[in-house]
Amino acid sequence: MFKLREAIDELEAQSGLDVRELSAHIDRLQAILCRELHEATRRGDHVLEGKTPNAWAASACRVSASSASDRLCVGEQLNNLPRVAEALRSGDVGYQAAAVICHLSDLLGEKRGLVDEEKWLEYSKQFSIKNLRRLAEHARFVADPEGAERDSEEDYEQRYLHLSELGAMYKLDAVLDRECGMALRTALESLTKRLGETDNRTPKQRRADAFKEIVQHSLDQGTLPKRNGARPQLAVHFTVDGLKGELADGMPIPGKTVQRLACDCSMHRVVKAESMAIDVGRAKRTAQPAQWRALKARHRTCAAPGCERPIGWTQAHHLEFWSRGGQTNAHRLIPLCYYHHRLVHEGGWQVVMAGERVDFIPPETPLMLRRRWGESRWAA
Ligand SMILES: [Zn+2]
Ligand SMILES: [Zn+2]
Repeated sequence: MFKLREAIDELEAQSGLDVRELSAHIDRLQAILCRELHEATRRGDHVLEGKTPNAWAASACRVSASSASDRLCVGEQLNNLPRVAEALRSGDVGYQAAAVICHLSDLLGEKRGLVDEEKWLEYSKQFSIKNLRRLAEHARFVADPEGAERDSEEDYEQRYLHLSELGAMYKLDAVLDRECGMALRTALESLTKRLGETDNRTPKQRRADAFKEIVQHSLDQGTLPKRNGARPQLAVHFTVDGLKGELADGMPIPGKTVQRLACDCSMHRVVKAESMAIDVGRAKRTAQPAQWRALKARHRTCAAPGCERPIGWTQAHHLEFWSRGGQTNAHRLIPLCYYHHRLVHEGGWQVVMAGERVDFIPPETPLMLRRRWGESRWAA
């Protein structure tokens, strides 16, 4: 090892190294490391420290559990794959590609004889690592359909979804099965495009908003199964002056948000006078079906300039907020997507109708949109 350190010191002092050659050397070292890790766990070095082979390798190499298991697998399988081991030594195959072949061999177990090493070394030159992995997955399925099915069932059992409160926000954490993940991705992708030129949300904010649209849309459709005899809806409680409100979970919501929720037609509302609930359900200010038809005749999309969100994915916005005496009059209603509706109520944008034209005027001073966690801006 002393000489190795000297050689590395020498390398470090140089510049203009051939990166391909350097990478091949690192891969070769990696293969030696895998072999040594495997040998050590075969000897039982991990037992001395009271650890599983995986935990021992992870702490010895200071890597994650998955990296440790990857190295142990490669260390073991290179014994079964002499051609791949040789190619790794000569720099003909990289570590990652060799690892893909090793994992395939590991998964096939007794059927590993089906792995044609020459062919796979050939594939490793033709395909990217990502595609090589797919190919290996496919080969595994063909060679061992029962094993692949068993694994896929085991994977499926790992699915979960947690939704937890995080201050005034919610945190979503989930592992989804492939079908669900692909369905979600497809649905999100159809809703994550920028909505007009002034849309300066980051991609991750757009994904969060797209997720909100999917959920809100399915509530608005009113097609979800009934619970306790009623269609599930987001309930909001607010006092008659319309400036104070709370969600059904008791969290206070700011006045501007109350106005938006009250503006839209799909909200289930409980209006309170003092502390008594006086009006439960849809109030008259809600856009009526006839008014929706009139809106649909005039608009195909959200009324915000450049926004292509279809009318079915919008809410009716009252140009004069009802809380300021606005009437539910079709000519004073415009359809706005969830994003633009929020921009008007909470974001301070103004909507001005000039004949058939709708102008959106940005707020003069940009609002501070960022907020630190835990800041209780809404505390009464
Ligand atoms: Zn509105
Ligand atoms: Zn819009």
